[in-house]
Amino acid sequence: ATPTAVMVGTGKAAELGILISNGDALEQAKRLTAIVLDKTGTITRGRPTVTAVTTAPGWAEQEIVALVAAAETGSEHPLGEAIVAAARDRGLPLPAVQRFEAIPGHGVDATVDGRRVRVGNRALMTSAGIDVTAFDQASTAAAEAGQTPILVAVDETAAALIVVADPVKPEAADAVAQLNALGLEVWMLTGDNAATAKAVAASVGIEHVIAEVLPSQKADRVADLQGEGHVVAMVGDGINDAPALAQADLGIAIGTGADVAIAASDVTLVGGDLRGIVSAIALSRRTVTTIK
Ligand code: ADP
Ligand code: MG
Repeated sequence: ATPTAVMVGTGKAAELGILISNGDALEQAKRLTAIVLDKTGTITRGRPTVTAVTTAPGWAEQEIVALVAAAETGSEHPLGEAIVAAARDRGLPLPAVQRFEAIPGHGVDATVDGRRVRVGNRALMTSAGIDVTAFDQASTAAAEAGQTPILVAVDETAAALIVVADPVKPEAADAVAQLNALGLEVWMLTGDNAATAKAVAASVGIEHVIAEVLPSQKADRVADLQGEGHVVAMVGDGINDAPALAQADLGIAIGTGADVAIAASDVTLVGGDLRGIVSAIALSRRTVTTIK
């Protein structure tokens, strides 16, 4: 684009709450064939809350919430923050933490009150050799309802299931419908479990789902789509999304997300409204046409 044309587009975009940091990349919008949306914080509000706690015999709910909140105190993950908030809401004092380790894409492993506390997904428990079959039924039910089951083990035994819900943004289904109408193949990409991801995707009209992706693999999945001949836009908000945003032909960050995600993208949606994606694509198509 000529500098003038990009400026015109950029000024109009700013009015719509769209910040453009790379005008050349925005021109890719004309050629896009696929768009990949991160789930947590992009399609969903990104402010999960605890909706249910199921404990194994011998454990009181309050005791588990306090123990897990202590284990998650050092966590920057929204799921960890949700559990810390649940303990705060219940006015629970937190036991002392001796050790904390975040395991990206899996959960946390901590020592609380001298006990080893592991909190996370099924893969975390499987790799630790912990039998969680007692919580299978409740986990499946939560996931099929689009909620995230979080397993808790104390020492080497399954102790609880904490279910967390992160509602989808009110405009998400509308935005997906508009992206489909533009002829784009819409994908959801998430580290969350496949059943939860499928349920959330279905609720907003997304057919293509890539779930249980490790943070380090998100960019690879974008590259796979490019390898199949797609010109790909990626929309994300998290630290984990930064490499995928950089890999995409057009990286779109949610303005309420992490600074690194914004720095890695070409376009930022200031207020996080997903319909801004549609406006950005439409705007760039108009801007490019004007130049010709
Ligand atoms: P997302 O794409 O949803 O941000 P992540 O890759 O960060 O997913 O995490 C994948 C999964 O690992 C989560 O859905 C959750 O089951 C588990 N997990 C990750 N971090 C934590 C944590 N701090 N506490 C509990 N579970 C976690
Ligand atoms: Mg996210």
